[in-house]
Amino acid sequence: MGEFDLIARYFTRPVQRAALGVGDDCALLAPQLGMQLAVSSDMLVEGRHFFADTDAERLGHKALAVNLSDLAACGARPLAFTLALALPHVDALWLEPFARGLLALADAHGCELVGGDTTQGPLNICITVFGEVPPGQALLRSGARVGDDLYVSGTLGDARLALEALQGHITLAPDTLAAARLRLEAPTPRVALGLALRGVAHSAMDISDGLLGDLGHLLRASGVGACIDTSKTINLIAAGAYPISAIGQFDTELLQQCTLAGGDDYELLFTAAPQQRSAVAAAARTSATPVTCIGRIEAAPGLRLIDAQGRAVTQRYASFDHFA
Ligand code: ADP
Ligand code: MG
Repeated sequence: MGEFDLIARYFTRPVQRAALGVGDDCALLAPQLGMQLAVSSDMLVEGRHFFADTDAERLGHKALAVNLSDLAACGARPLAFTLALALPHVDALWLEPFARGLLALADAHGCELVGGDTTQGPLNICITVFGEVPPGQALLRSGARVGDDLYVSGTLGDARLALEALQGHITLAPDTLAAARLRLEAPTPRVALGLALRGVAHSAMDISDGLLGDLGHLLRASGVGACIDTSKTINLIAAGAYPISAIGQFDTELLQQCTLAGGDDYELLFTAAPQQRSAVAAAARTSATPVTCIGRIEAAPGLRLIDAQGRAVTQRYASFDHFA
């Protein structure tokens, strides 16, 4: 199979929303009149972002999921994406499940594959997504205000827990590993929540590199500081997927390391005024996405961690140190 057969077979489908899809020198997008285009790229490199033996269907899902997560963070509605792919060789046994995972998530979000590039080389997957958002309504990192509640969606730390197990640092029971691994390999982009938070949240971003490090970016962009209650974040690991008792053998430090600095969570981090609490709850409900208030935006720059009694937590966490 040559390059063009491969594109035709796995990555060419009729477009519905775009004016022109795969096959010409450019795709043509047709955003609704007056909308702003939200654009983001994310690259996944073998050995750096995923193991060589990662399930191809999950990899297809994840490659698009991490990009959709960026649109979600901005409150943008997915429109289309391009796929730049370097492959060591043409392998139908890899391409077929990869395309299946990729396009299933694309269909679930009405996000069309409209073009890309295909070349021989070490496995590398680069996607650019295009979304649309009404002018002035994009959620930005720079909008947090003093007094805002600080929220995260879903669960934190499961992906890091799975990574620790896959690297042989810890041992998890098979079903616990399977549940945590699903979060690592097939994250859920919080698109519906991002859309529901337009006009409600003051600021938002997605968590890809770990809560504390990413929060640092938001705080600096907004010129504010924050206080986080670590008795709230510790409960976000395992939430839903498996009982906390399944990881009861691990010390709190390890679990906090996962939730505070883990990475690969692809949850939304956002702030909203206390007066918006019922609106935030409604956004969580309509998007069927759990959200948890983990702290507060403060005027003093920097990030402070407290325990349930309000005492300062002095332990330093990896991504926290970058910011300290
Ligand atoms: P060009 O020579 O103009 O760069 P290509 O020959 O690379 O175009 O690609 C031919 C067509 O196939 C283009 O429309 C391009 O967008 C599309 N395409 C190439 N690779 C992919 C891919 N991996 N997924 C989707 N479309 C692709
Ligand atoms: Mg061309």
